[in-house]
Amino acid sequence: MVMATAAPAEVKAGDNAPGDLQQTFTAHGEWIDAMVKQFTDGLKPIVEKAQKGLEESMRRVLDIQNGTIAPNEANQHALDQLNLLFMNQLDAAGYRAFVQAFTEQFAEQLPFLQETIDFLARQAGHKLPAVSFQPHDLRVFTDIAASDIRSTMQAVAAATLGQVTAQRAAFGLAGLPFKEMVKIFQAEFGGSVKRNAARAETAIAVWYRQVADEQYKRIEKEIPSLVQRYIYSGPLDSVTRPFCRHMLTVTGTKPLTRAEIDKLDNGQIPNVFVSCGGWGCRHQWLLWFDAMKDLIGKLPKAA
Ligand SMILES: [Zn+2]
Repeated sequence: MVMATAAPAEVKAGDNAPGDLQQTFTAHGEWIDAMVKQFTDGLKPIVEKAQKGLEESMRRVLDIQNGTIAPNEANQHALDQLNLLFMNQLDAAGYRAFVQAFTEQFAEQLPFLQETIDFLARQAGHKLPAVSFQPHDLRVFTDIAASDIRSTMQAVAAATLGQVTAQRAAFGLAGLPFKEMVKIFQAEFGGSVKRNAARAETAIAVWYRQVADEQYKRIEKEIPSLVQRYIYSGPLDSVTRPFCRHMLTVTGTKPLTRAEIDKLDNGQIPNVFVSCGGWGCRHQWLLWFDAMKDLIGKLPKAA
């Protein structure tokens, strides 16, 4: 029985990574921090340019009388396309290329995975397949990440259209003042950087877990499922959410099978093996051979 006072042996201040992996986890965390900062810094000027571009193109396209968007058919038609124009302006400002280049760097995480596999091989006393992926193997995960990051801006664009539509309805025949629409642009674009950076951070973690999952599947082909158990690993501090805290505690004493993990629900994103705690979570599943050493010792050694 797990008592609240009896923390698992692996739990140290701030992290529950096993001793040998502390450095790897710390370095990985710092790499993610630097990437999120790079994303935020790079996105700001793009968003500013897009905001200006959208305002200018609206000013050109719309029939504006005395500072008011005239409530006519032509304006209606133009404003109905607002979310598309929003994305077009972002891409014209370099957004799509920026996200693509950003996700191309995710492969820099592979050495962290290799260090983890090296640790597991030592723990199991068994040779494990090396981390090796062809670019086209990674392409699918990188494309998922890019599309996931972009979906945040698509949601912002849709919200902008929704706000403008609601305001136009409120002003009715008087017509929506152009400066009211600009205020909506400012608010939506302004909030978008932080929101998009948060999504980028999640996309990095999900990319890594998907690639780790592929690697684990290769290992699972060599080591029978009988000895495959996973622990939950990563930060344990004041911001660790209840789901992650619970998983750290539970798996600290009883590592879980993949089937057990697949039944879990974090209340946010499906597929807990890849999503862990959900948005912004940096935890990961770690194949854990420690309790199975005796069994692994009886397996034929890999060549
Ligand atoms: Zn977490």
